[in-house]
Amino acid sequence: MPNNPPSDPHGFRRRGVLFVLSSPSGAGKSTIARRLLADEHELEMSVSVTTRPMRAGEVDGKDYHFTDLEGFRDMVANDEFLEWAHVFNHRYGTPRAQVEEMLAAGKDVLFDIDWQGAQQLFQIAGGDVVRVFIFPPSMEELHRRLTSRGTDSTEVIEARMSRAANEVSHWDGYDYVLVNDDVDSCIRGVKTILAAERLKRSRQTGLIGFIRRLTR
Ligand code: 5GP
Repeated sequence: MPNNPPSDPHGFRRRGVLFVLSSPSGAGKSTIARRLLADEHELEMSVSVTTRPMRAGEVDGKDYHFTDLEGFRDMVANDEFLEWAHVFNHRYGTPRAQVEEMLAAGKDVLFDIDWQGAQQLFQIAGGDVVRVFIFPPSMEELHRRLTSRGTDSTEVIEARMSRAANEVSHWDGYDYVLVNDDVDSCIRGVKTILAAERLKRSRQTGLIGFIRRLTR
C-alpha cells in the first residue's frame, strides 16, 4: 500500500506497518492496544464502523463510528471499506480513507479486527500487514474476564464464549501468537514484534540512496 512512511535516524524511508491485533473478546486486546498507542507515537488506531449498539462508556468516533444498517450498507455500496465482516450478528468495517490518511502522514496503523478482517486486509495489502493473535490463558479465565467487565448480558457473554472457540481456531492465519496471562509481558511481546517488523529490510524503501553514499 503506497505511503509516505516515517523516517528513522539514518533518514531511511520505510513502508508503514498495518498491524493487526485479533483475539476473542475479553482476551485483553483493548488494554494492549491502548497501552501500545500511548507508548508508540508513530502508531495510530484505525477506528472501525459498526452497527452494534454502543456500550456504556464507549465514545462515538473514538471506540467506533456507530451507525445503522442503512448507513453501513451505503458505505459498502460506495466501496468505503478496506474490509468488513459480520461479527455477532452485527457488521464491522474498516474505513479505507482513514487508513490511507494515516499512512500518508507517515504512521503505522493498528487494527483491532477479527480473523475475517485480518484475512481480507492480507489479501489487499499482503506484505505490509503483520497479524498478531492473542490467546487468553484459558477459556475459564476468558469467561471470568467477560463477566467481570459488566458490560454485557449473560446471553451476550455466552454468545461471545461460543464464538471464542471459533475465533481461536483461526490462529494459523496469523504471523505471531501470544498468550495474555500477564498483560505487561504480553505488551512487551507485542512491542518487540512491532519494532522488529519496522526494521525489516523489505520495508526500507530508501536504502538505495544510502548504499550509494556509503559506497561512493
Ligand atoms: P466488540 O463488539 O467486542 O467491540 O468487537 C467484536 C469483534 O469485532 C472483535 O473481535 C473485534 O476485533 C471485531 N472488529 C471490530 N472492528 C472490526 C472491523 O472493522 N472489521 C472486522 N473484521 N472486525 C472488527
